[in-house]
Amino acid sequence: MEIKKIMVLGAGQMGNGIAQVCAQAGYPVVMRDIEDSFLERGMKAISKNLQRGVDKGRLSEEEKKAVEDRIQPTLELEDGKDADIVIEAVVERMDIKESLFRSLDEMTPSHTILASNTSSLPLTDIAAVTNRPEKVIGMHFMNPVPVMKLVEIIRGLATSDDTYQVVEDLARKLDKVPVEVEDFPGFVSNRILMPMINEAVYCLMEGVARPEAIDEVMRLGMNHPMGPLTLADLIGLDTCLSVMEVLHEGFGDDKYRPCPLLRKYVAAGWLGRKSGRGFYDYSG
Ligand code: NAD
Repeated sequence: MEIKKIMVLGAGQMGNGIAQVCAQAGYPVVMRDIEDSFLERGMKAISKNLQRGVDKGRLSEEEKKAVEDRIQPTLELEDGKDADIVIEAVVERMDIKESLFRSLDEMTPSHTILASNTSSLPLTDIAAVTNRPEKVIGMHFMNPVPVMKLVEIIRGLATSDDTYQVVEDLARKLDKVPVEVEDFPGFVSNRILMPMINEAVYCLMEGVARPEAIDEVMRLGMNHPMGPLTLADLIGLDTCLSVMEVLHEGFGDDKYRPCPLLRKYVAAGWLGRKSGRGFYDYSG
């Protein structure tokens, strides 16, 4: 199947990045969010990102405009009803995703692939609310989408080989590197990354070292580009906690229990960069 049109749901951090890379690859994109201000913020982020490319001489002004023109921001789900693939990147809530996938299943033609960018929710469960589980798949982009090469492609229990192949080809056309993963809690990326971050929070809670020291050990000792606490602040501590909860519940294994200090920070609204305070202070 040839993909001619793409709908992206959500114009947030991930949604606007996904819309940008799809438009840069030449696809017409419908980007849907639920409030005008969110769409405006998403389009602004795309424009700012592309401008960086122009400033560095990687893109001309005309190309930037052409990419922006290929993205149609909208509040109407119906505007994407002729899309060949929908990539959902709305908030990480199962009830919202399930209700969207039900609507998409009713609205789109039978050939349309329904993909989710979920970081942790089971694809098999999302697929089960539709009448086309063979066409439901995970397309897990990394943040920031225009920069990061990996797309973890997650096969639900019923995902067909045809669907997988179309999505793998699409990822390559977006200049990404697809990696095939089965549907288990946290997939591969978050199953390995989040327990590491959680352990770093335990080190902090137990007074093993200061945040800067914990990050420095992992940066200089393990050659990580940034330390786990800095990374957690970037991802959002609420997101880290919710992924740990998915792992804990999904495997029923105490090795995934979220660190009490992580819970405390989230309860206090210290969510990392986005709230101005996490393991570090961003208020300045
Ligand atoms: P975000 O909060 O920045 O953006 C979510 C957007 O979805 C918001 O603008 C919100 O208004 C919109 N939205 C809510 N309900 C909607 C609906 N019914 N239709 C259309 N839009 C709707 O969140 P994000 O960080 O972009 O995360 C989005 C998804 O991507 C989540 O599933 C998350 O787990 C996943 N993800 C996030 C990251 C990350 O590092 N942030 C990485 C990989 C995957």
